[in-house]
Amino acid sequence: MLPKRNIGLVAHDNRKNDLVEWADYNKGTLSLHNLYATGNTGERIIEQTGLKITLLKGGPYGGDMELGAMIANDKLDYLIFFWDPLQNQPHDVDVKALLRIAVLYNVPTACNRATADLIISSPLFHSEYKPGKDRCKK
Ligand code: PGA
Repeated sequence: MLPKRNIGLVAHDNRKNDLVEWADYNKGTLSLHNLYATGNTGERIIEQTGLKITLLKGGPYGGDMELGAMIANDKLDYLIFFWDPLQNQPHDVDVKALLRIAVLYNVPTACNRATADLIISSPLFHSEYKPGKDRCKK
């Protein structure tokens, strides 16, 4: 039996429809894993798909930082983060921090649907593969 992954889901307001559609399309696969999402994103996905998701705080209220803390503590395996390339966010520093920590800890991160499709359809996603994180640890 393959390991359950811990997957973080976040989308800015203009990208939520995209992420909800993606999650709905992939709900069979996603339902096999542990899902975490920032508040509003998670509620939208639950409403549409019925997936079981652990809801974190709303993104601007610390949800992005909660995901960042999970990454730093090796508790998040994948990050699906559809950020908005056309609009400034009041919590831009948190957005940057989350993306920075995801890169630092070598967490596979999808910022658009094409990349999310590639991750979820990758044979590596469906195997024992775990990206190395040793270089990042201090
Ligand atoms: P939300 O947060 O899911 O609570 O809307 C997303 C974000 O803006 O980071």
